[in-house]
Amino acid sequence: MDSVICIVDVLPELLGTYGDYGNVIVLAKRLQLRGFKVRIIQATADKSIPQTGDVYVLGGGEDSPQSEAAKILRNSKSLNIAYDNGSFVFGVCAGFQILGNSFVADNKVEEGIGLADFYSVRGSRRSVGELVINSDIFGPNYLLSGFENHGGVTVLGQDVEPLGRVLIGKGNGYNESGNSSYKTDNSTDPMQLSFNKYSRSIDDKFSSKMTKKTPIQFRDGILSKRLLCTYMHGPVLARNYKLADFILNQIVPIEDEVDALGRLNTYSERLRTERLKSTL
Ligand code: GLN
Repeated sequence: MDSVICIVDVLPELLGTYGDYGNVIVLAKRLQLRGFKVRIIQATADKSIPQTGDVYVLGGGEDSPQSEAAKILRNSKSLNIAYDNGSFVFGVCAGFQILGNSFVADNKVEEGIGLADFYSVRGSRRSVGELVINSDIFGPNYLLSGFENHGGVTVLGQDVEPLGRVLIGKGNGYNESGNSSYKTDNSTDPMQLSFNKYSRSIDDKFSSKMTKKTPIQFRDGILSKRLLCTYMHGPVLARNYKLADFILNQIVPIEDEVDALGRLNTYSERLRTERLKSTL
């Protein structure tokens, strides 16, 4: 295969606090094992950010580096240009918030780069812990697992779809305009039932803060054609290899079953189930 898939690790020295570089490694490895040539570009602040990458990966960061990263991206416009020209963008936590219209860092409202219509505000308390969601990509009974650690709450615009429904944790958090009733899942799968019970208790915990009477089920992240964001660290693609392959499939057609991936998939699946069990 002659073409080289270019993965851009965006401002890793600012958005690398939570080990999300692992997402870059997972994407690269899963391409290489399928026979693709891969180039990883570490787009650090001292270099210009390339505009022709196939996929751009942004990780989490503390407030000050997050603001710094947003400023660099606003000034260079390279990520906006790449996205407009068809590149795929994957953002986690701070890297997610930066891609919206605005976010709050160090008690200041900062402008994002506006790839999609959403904004983040400060929540009343920090969201820390295991985050379990399901997504329409994989259906209700395949759970994605990550770890969240953020002070922000993200509000999606009318036309912006979340990545999934939160079963444990907060994800985007409380969103007055986007609430909806609980998924009433009639599944008899004990694990699913247990998750449903758990998520109800989270709702109870937060009910006093809700301004509407309807129960809220939180959502996580966003998903559109060339943009996928989440609050899940982990790194999330190491915990959930199917999500990695979903992203890769948006960039280049990939085969599902490749022998060389078997061992990686087994390790990833073991990690995902181990983390899910830890939340029960
Ligand atoms: N600084 C952001 C917040 O607290 C993002 C944190 C992170 O990337 N984990 O909301």
